[in-house]
Amino acid sequence: MPEGDTIHRSADALRSVLVGRVVLRFDLPRHPSGIRPSVGTTVVDVSARGKHLLVSFSDGLVLHTHMRRSGSWHLYRPGETWRRSPTNARIVIDTEDAVVETAVERLRGLVATDTEIGVALLDQRIAAGIGNVYKSEVCHACAVDPFAPVSRITDDVLRALYRTASTMLAFNLGTVSRTTVEDDQVASGRVAVYARAGRPCRRCRTPSLVRGRRQGDERRMTYWCPSCQR
Ligand SMILES: [Zn+2]
Repeated sequence: MPEGDTIHRSADALRSVLVGRVVLRFDLPRHPSGIRPSVGTTVVDVSARGKHLLVSFSDGLVLHTHMRRSGSWHLYRPGETWRRSPTNARIVIDTEDAVVETAVERLRGLVATDTEIGVALLDQRIAAGIGNVYKSEVCHACAVDPFAPVSRITDDVLRALYRTASTMLAFNLGTVSRTTVEDDQVASGRVAVYARAGRPCRRCRTPSLVRGRRQGDERRMTYWCPSCQR
């Protein structure tokens, strides 16, 4: 049975990609006549209560789900092949892909220009669900220096950072261990830089080693490769 921790991480991942999005389709294949949110309504919240997961919509309806013994949520981009047969789906929600663009707008509007990107990525007002591990992993994946001020980062790179975060969160939905590297690299560790200070960078493999340093007012640990993240 999915444990409470798994439900909370599922809620975090769903929140990061659903909140603020407009619903384009909401299907309950096994309950064709059931009540459902109307097309055009917006997802306003995703939360976990014990082993229950709740999705709230702007028209006042709340989807209440329980994953029972083996249920799970899967996230897919348009056109992507589903890992399990669509005939097994109990609920299908299609949304517009606007979350990345709105995250960039929120970042520009909410944080000072000298805020370091590693601090901004953790700001849950901008995009929910990005925790301290993903912050370091996302910056490494996009070859961005986590200590760079947001004023030096273009909108295109910001979009790449939030899109990468969304993909990592979606990939890890419902799993126990976080994986941020490709399948063929997992044998060497599931993450690229997090908690790997003093070890060689897994991408550039130059003699300069991964570093770890505390960042921001909350002094959260940040890991990065000074060679390929400039
Ligand atoms: Zn490197």
